Amino acid sequence: MSECIFCRIVRGEIPSKKVYEDEHVYAFHDINPVAPVHVLVVPKQHVDSMAHLTAEHEAAMGRLMVAAGQIARDQGCTDGFRTIINTGRVGLQEVYHLHLHILGGADPLPPML
Ligand code: ADP
Repeated sequence: MSECIFCRIVRGEIPSKKVYEDEHVYAFHDINPVAPVHVLVVPKQHVDSMAHLTAEHEAAMGRLMVAAGQIARDQGCTDGFRTIINTGRVGLQEVYHLHLHILGGADPLPPML
């Protein structure tokens, strides 16, 4: 079994505050929020980063993008929100399981993570 922290969250081995789940996608509140709404959306199937995506991930990543918009609306971000995917060392990625940050609930939002 994978030791990846987000794989363990998806499997329920590490607690998380889940906001959404479907066949392809799991979403939960960030443990260290930088905005009033800070949700992470991950593909259930492990992929290290956006730089590792291949054609086999298309269905899950399409679902992830649609889910992200739906989650932001559900979280009350009716006037807009930001989405960020950090990739690799230069992109300041800390957790190597691809994840999309949804940031919202403040006006204005912080310019960067
Ligand atoms: P950065 O920390 O630079 O934003 P990432 O884009 O890799 O790097 O983001 C990892 C995110 O995962 C961070 O916002 C961090 O707070 C969050 N995080 C780490 N562990 C957990 C956890 N157990 N539950 C929820 N969020 C977590």
